Amino acid sequence: MKYNRILLKLSGESLMGAQGYGIDENRLSEYASQLKEIADMGVQIGIVIGGGNIFRGLSGAKKGYDRVKGDQMGMLATVINALALNSALSAIGAKVKVLTAIRMEPIGEFYTKDRAIDLLNSGYITIFAAGTSCPYFTTDTGSSLRGLEIEADAMFKGTRVDGIYTADPEKDPSATKYDDISYDEILNKNLKVMDLSATVMCRDNNLPIVVFNMDKVGNLKKVISGENIGTYVHP
Ligand code: UDP
Repeated sequence: MKYNRILLKLSGESLMGAQGYGIDENRLSEYASQLKEIADMGVQIGIVIGGGNIFRGLSGAKKGYDRVKGDQMGMLATVINALALNSALSAIGAKVKVLTAIRMEPIGEFYTKDRAIDLLNSGYITIFAAGTSCPYFTTDTGSSLRGLEIEADAMFKGTRVDGIYTADPEKDPSATKYDDISYDEILNKNLKVMDLSATVMCRDNNLPIVVFNMDKVGNLKKVISGENIGTYVHP
């Protein structure tokens, strides 16, 4: 395996599959079996899961919600998704725990770096819920933060597209994919890969990012093995 310890970012939106909202159980079980497969190979997996399939603070603010309350609702949405993934993983016999950035025992244990690393070393797939606990952040920044804290070899961003493109491939059919790209090129070209603040945080602290299509079954194992199917982001 090329990677021993990874931070995987899963978006809430991909969890909804073909539905317009909420959680698609088929997608959930596809994710769970792919995760168990690489955990069984000995890869230590930390996961940050988004909440966009349920609520986003920014969209809420446009509808008149207070931004901070809306962001808190979004963070709670990530907890719902984390519990769903926890349940799907437990159902197939995987070792899994949820740590939350906001205290809410018994839903999950409160996150600390030391507890996270203990769990990872003991072979638990560890899901980090409630983002960073702070409004005005997203689960992308949550992922770069947790990725650095757990000293992951890289941050894997599972998306619905095959990697980073010159333009949005869902809108521009002439867009081409990068096999690799530097952090600065992403920033200079303003490519919409993930939040700028998350990209800057990875750049400043040398955390490599791999962007790949998580919705194609089998891809997770391929990228963890070092197959160049997505886009590799480097200094
Ligand atoms: N959120 C937040 N702080 C964080 C992480 C998330 O306020 O540290 C809120 C924010 O409103 C965000 C929502 O939770 O829109 C859901 O997360 P995100 O949009 O990142 O989910 P995704 O796009 O990955 O589904």
